[in-house]
This record gives sequence, C-alpha cells and structure tokens, in this order.
Amino acid sequence: MLLEVRDLQVEFRTRDGVAKAVNGVSYGVDAGETLAVLGESGSGKSVTAQAVMGILDMPPGRITGGEILFRGKDVLKLKEEERRRIRGAGMAMIFQDALSALNPVLSVGDQLGEMFVVHRGMSKKAARAKAIELMERVRIPGAAQRVGDYPHQFSGGMRQRIMIAMALALEPALIIADEPTTALDVTVQAQVMDLLADLQREYHMGLILITHDLGVVADVADRIAVMYAGKIVESAPVRDIYKAPAHPYTRGLLDSIPRLDQKGQELYAIKGLPPNLMNIPPGCAFHPRCPMAQDVCRTDVPPLYEVSEDRGSACHFWRECLHG
Ligand code: SF4
Ligand code: MG
Repeated sequence: MLLEVRDLQVEFRTRDGVAKAVNGVSYGVDAGETLAVLGESGSGKSVTAQAVMGILDMPPGRITGGEILFRGKDVLKLKEEERRRIRGAGMAMIFQDALSALNPVLSVGDQLGEMFVVHRGMSKKAARAKAIELMERVRIPGAAQRVGDYPHQFSGGMRQRIMIAMALALEPALIIADEPTTALDVTVQAQVMDLLADLQREYHMGLILITHDLGVVADVADRIAVMYAGKIVESAPVRDIYKAPAHPYTRGLLDSIPRLDQKGQELYAIKGLPPNLMNIPPGCAFHPRCPMAQDVCRTDVPPLYEVSEDRGSACHFWRECLHG
C-alpha cells in the first residue's frame, strides 16, 4: 500500500473547548488508484489530508493518535527532517483556491521553474523549459507564449491546471486534491477532473480526491470513503455505492445529486446540519438527521460493520439500508 492511514485522531484546542475533528479514520490508497473522500464541510476530510501532508503539525491542530504509513513507514514516528524529506518528494497537494495558493507577484513560469531550481538544482534556463513542458502536460494552450504570464492573467480553470502542474513537477507518488474543481463552473469542472484522471493514470500515482460532491467522482474514483463527524461511515468500491448505499448518510448524498431525468423536481436535501465537533451526538453521530434512526442509534456507537470483503458501513441497520 502506498499510503495507509490507521485510526487517525486529530483535535483542535480552542478557547471554547476541544473539537474532535478526526475520530479514528483509517483508509488507504495504492499506486495507480483513486480514493474519493466524501463529506460535508466539517466532516474531517480536509483535516485528515492535512495531517497526511504534514501541514497540521502545529497548534491549535494536534494529532493525538494513529499512524500515517507512507510506503510502510510511519511518518509520525520519523525525525522532523526525514519526515519533511519523505513528504516533500513523495506527496503533493492541490487546493481549491488556486489564486490564493499561487504567488501573485511571480510569473507562472518562475513558480513552476522554482521547483526545479530548488529541488533539482537545475539552471534557470533548464527550469524554464521544464515549466513550459509541464504547462503543455496540463494542456494549457500556447504554453511557450504564456510562461511569463502571472496567475491573475489566467482563467479559473487554467489556474487550476497550473496548480496541477505545480503538484506534478516533482513527480510525486501521491497527490491529494482538496475540492480541486469546486470553485469552477460545471463544464470546466469536468475538463479539469478528466485531466486529473488522465495524469493520474499516466504517472501511475495514488490520488486522493476530497469532495463534497458525489456527482463528480463517479467516473474517476476506484473507491469512496464517506466521512461524517470525523469518522468514515461507509467505505466501498465506487460501483457498489452507486448500485446501493449501505449507509443512510451515503443514501442522502446520492439522492441530493441533481439528475437530468428529474428536471424541475425539487432536489432532496439531507435535513439538519452537521454536528458541532465540540459536542458530537452520542451513539451514531448521524442519528439526529437520520430517517432510519431507532432507539439503539442514540446510545450505541456503530462500529464499521463488514458488509463484504472490501466494503464497510458504520450503521446498525446497514442491511435494511442496502436492501431498502
Ligand atoms: Fe441512522 Fe442508526 Fe444507521 Fe446511524 S446507526 S445511520 S442513526 S440507522
Ligand atoms: Mg475542506
């Protein structure tokens, strides 16, 4: 396994108390595989990714338990320097907001080139050629002419391609993309997602795709992990989830995807709001919003039940959900 997260726990200490952002998350991704991590904002999907990337190792966020194995080594147990080296060479992240992630006063060619100057010891000239090559890889038209342009001179979709190029520069084994297309309009979203999927195959990378939108992952993901209140509530191959969800929360997410054949009908929305992470409901954290909730759900925390060999659901009534 390229990356394996085991029983990860992350807390945020605030003035009002301790927010349990990640409560025992386990997932893995192999080379050449795409894992979609799905959930509403505040579900812990980004925080888990930030812990993996090592951009959470400071207050108020704190990893309080678990392991993050990269190629079998627990990065949390390594010395700071080695940890940084392993992550720096092996993992890269793509963020939602390219405009704030890119440096506004450096041309994109200089930003891309800098990766090769700093990490590969290349000359400025060689690095520039590499920058153009990368821009072509992510299909930016007229790359050679545009290499001196600044981030604000590109459209949102093109900027996101530049972010992808930055992430690819050092040929990481793993890319984590956090809502990479959320800020884009629908057609551009699909193009950027296709590009990401193509590059993932071409480079045989592991890809973790974090999103709140189940609609965008159907064609690109191999597996889906659905998160709620800092836990994985369902984990399964993508086709199984679309065929029949084994958790009422997944079902709610599926039912809220707009569909062409339901035009004009009101879209289903899961009622209520995600819980306050400083005060997570007892039993199943989803019970206040769950249409299938029973008494036991208010008291007993559901474990991740084994639905099949490669599928789990943290619902006491996963059978009823699956067949209902
Ligand atoms: Fe709903 Fe109960 Fe299943 Fe939780 S355990 S998802 S409340 S049915
Ligand atoms: Mg987020």
